[in-house]
Amino acid sequence: MAHGRRSGGERVLVLNSGSSSVKYQLLDMADHSRLASGLVERIGEGAGRLAHTPAGGERREREADLPDHRAALRAAAGELAADGLGLDAPELVAVGHRVVHGGRAFTEPTVVDERVLAEIERLVPLAPLHNPANLAGIRTAMDLNPDVPQVAVFDTAFHTTLPEHAARYAIDTATADDHLIRKYGFHGTSHAYVSRRTAALLGREPAEVNVIVLHLGNGASASAVAGGRCVDTSMGLTPLEGLVMGTRSGDTDPAVVFHLARVAGMDVADIDALLNQRSGLVGLCGDNDMREVLRRRAEGDAEAGLAFDVYIHRLRKYIGAYCAVLGRVDAVAFTAGVGENAAPVRAAAVAGLEGLGIEVDGAANTAPGGGPRLISPEHARVAVAVVPTDEELEIATQAYALVGS
Ligand code: ADP
Repeated sequence: MAHGRRSGGERVLVLNSGSSSVKYQLLDMADHSRLASGLVERIGEGAGRLAHTPAGGERREREADLPDHRAALRAAAGELAADGLGLDAPELVAVGHRVVHGGRAFTEPTVVDERVLAEIERLVPLAPLHNPANLAGIRTAMDLNPDVPQVAVFDTAFHTTLPEHAARYAIDTATADDHLIRKYGFHGTSHAYVSRRTAALLGREPAEVNVIVLHLGNGASASAVAGGRCVDTSMGLTPLEGLVMGTRSGDTDPAVVFHLARVAGMDVADIDALLNQRSGLVGLCGDNDMREVLRRRAEGDAEAGLAFDVYIHRLRKYIGAYCAVLGRVDAVAFTAGVGENAAPVRAAAVAGLEGLGIEVDGAANTAPGGGPRLISPEHARVAVAVVPTDEELEIATQAYALVGS
């Protein structure tokens, strides 16, 4: 039986393909509503799992044999077809793919052809875990729907406007150029969406406002957006640089790497795993989920308290740094799982920044609310906002702008 709400609007399917999972959403571009969403997990790992939720319907979960991405997408397509939302429907006008690394080449969403596939492949050394998975998703979707345009939307694209002085690391130029070493930045789709929504919340055009966006999820990044263009961002060559994250260290002295190699006998793979998977909040206190950190801290747990303090200190430093980068700041926007939900993190991050015009109103900060909202007091020079991110909608919107009618 069809559960899905049918509509005459054109549709975009958004795919976020990881190495062992695919997240998908089908959006109606007439009103930006979700027609269905789902998650296919444990691809190539034995018993696969699929969870699918049609708009207004019950979530359905089942096990499935998912040896590869092809099987995963076929399973998702089957669920959509069961809701009357088959991918062969004429309403489907594009498939939008999240692609993590677009290097310097991709500054905008791009319709995928053989040349684009080859370029994404060339960038695999810069994103060895993500780009191959993204490619598998694109190739499979192309095979399953040869007539529907596939659009790649790059996590790095929004940051390609970084001025050279912000994108360059101060290392030997020839070495940097030979190995494509520079700051690329990530979470760009979210930073683009949230900076625009923040301008709208202020009733102004993106070109008129300077915004600091704090995307605080399990991965976390900050960006400085001047008049709609990104001028600095905290993630770098890889997503390891910058803020303290759930499992990543963020900024450290690069010499930590040689020191560990020399004194601890760790090899590159060990140090990579340490800094990416066993650092950040989990490294400091054993929990990567901010909810747990906050709970333990409230009970007086010293490790969780220190983890929180390190996280906040880094965040506050980036806010200050981006005030200096931007010169004039109109808004600070908090987004993603921690940014949208953790009032204590927001309050602590801006505590003491009144001199920069940045403060939150205690009641507004803790008031329940789901949508974009201001949490700064009326008199504050800088608006502080909570702006829920929506990367799938942004990917769909960008893909649709390129190929929709
Ligand atoms: P991802 O980076 O995986 O996309 P999200 O943006 O969904 O992550 O953020 C996930 C993180 O958000 C969780 O690890 C958790 O720490 C945090 N989070 C979610 N809800 C809350 C909450 N109510 N309070 C504090 N932190 C939260």
